[in-house]
Amino acid sequence: MKKLSIICICFILINFVSYNKCKAQGEKPYVIILSMDGFRWDYPEQANTPNLDYIEKIGDRADASIPCFPTKTFPNHYSMATGLYPDNHGIILNNFYAPDLDRYYSIGDSKAVTNPDFYFGEPVWVTAEKQGVKAASYFWVGSEAPHDNIFPTYYYSYDETIPFENRIDGVIDWLKLPEKDRPHLIMWYIEEPDSKGHDVGPNDSEIISMIEYLDSLVGVFNTKINELPIKNNINIIITSDHGMGKISKERVVYLYDLIKQEWYEHIDGGNPVFTIEAKDEYYNTLYNVLSSVDHIKIWKKNELPERLHYGFSVRVKDFVVVADSSWSIWKSSKKISYSGGAHGYDNANKDMHAIFYAYGPAFKNNYKHHAINNIDIYPLICKILGIQPQDVDGKLDNIIPMLDKSD
Ligand code: AMP
Ligand code: ZN
Ligand code: ZN
Repeated sequence: MKKLSIICICFILINFVSYNKCKAQGEKPYVIILSMDGFRWDYPEQANTPNLDYIEKIGDRADASIPCFPTKTFPNHYSMATGLYPDNHGIILNNFYAPDLDRYYSIGDSKAVTNPDFYFGEPVWVTAEKQGVKAASYFWVGSEAPHDNIFPTYYYSYDETIPFENRIDGVIDWLKLPEKDRPHLIMWYIEEPDSKGHDVGPNDSEIISMIEYLDSLVGVFNTKINELPIKNNINIIITSDHGMGKISKERVVYLYDLIKQEWYEHIDGGNPVFTIEAKDEYYNTLYNVLSSVDHIKIWKKNELPERLHYGFSVRVKDFVVVADSSWSIWKSSKKISYSGGAHGYDNANKDMHAIFYAYGPAFKNNYKHHAINNIDIYPLICKILGIQPQDVDGKLDNIIPMLDKSD
């Protein structure tokens, strides 16, 4: 753990001192959750992160947030939003063919991401809105599609060109609205350090600089929160969807060198995880060929280990194929010289685990919690907001020790 400099301590004390057990009476609570994409659980140990370190002191830190399998962005953001495994909420990968709709889902296709037919389960912003709690989303996955014809009261269409600083200001502006218009649940998103992690891998000096920049944004955000009159009722969760693993051009399986185009109908996904629909007559050939390849795993649908909670959705195809840790599977036969980072692996792989920090009046001070499952975040948010959750896969019991029992 790093030492905080005197300057940092002063800065942070000004920011946070008022959170120390300070609870306003009679005001309804706020929950603000930030996801910084691909923020691996141990990045704060590699970089100088005074703002996250201080949150750890005045709030809670879990050893990690364990993502669902596959450890990709869309499945996991929607698991945090719904408390459901990807099999149960329908977003089984970032890109997939949905046979139930005869349509393709793709994260870059705004027609798909705004189409409610792809999404099952009830996102927490809808659970909140249905119970009279206004919600807002600044780019959280799934919030551009209505559920039961309900959107968050405030949301934006995804636009990665919006600077992170503007997103902070957007969140703060929502919190400055008159009480009758003000959201009590805000979910917001930053696409770093995922992007940098893909480019350079998780153990690079450029990642450390990115982590330190993001930590400084957390400091700016906290300063602005602390200037609000409602500051003592605000609970903040800072987490991420998955971690990042190092990959190398020396450790690659080229899928199209192994299987022929006439063997399959669909290959969905991206390095290092795919689901493949075989043509009936090639079902055994495809399985036999891929199961003999080193450094990858292939499971028949419905035969994945139970702990992965994956493979029963109609959207998961005949086979699920995933590379071993630090290996890549490229959907090509070309030799790609790419060595940065990747995620999507088995969620038991610690490289895939993400950060989890929380502070505010609902949380204990200076509390270390064991790793949580990210599906437990939905019941946690409902508990803090005092709303009735849906029956979901996530369990409040797993996470409740973080909460200040005196609440
Ligand atoms: P991946 O690393 O492939 O799992 O996905 C990360 C990418 O998802 C990021 O670089 C974002 O650009 C993209 N992304 C995140 N949230 C959204 C969203 N709400 N709508 C569209 N794209 C998104
Ligand atoms: Zn991600
Ligand atoms: Zn990514």
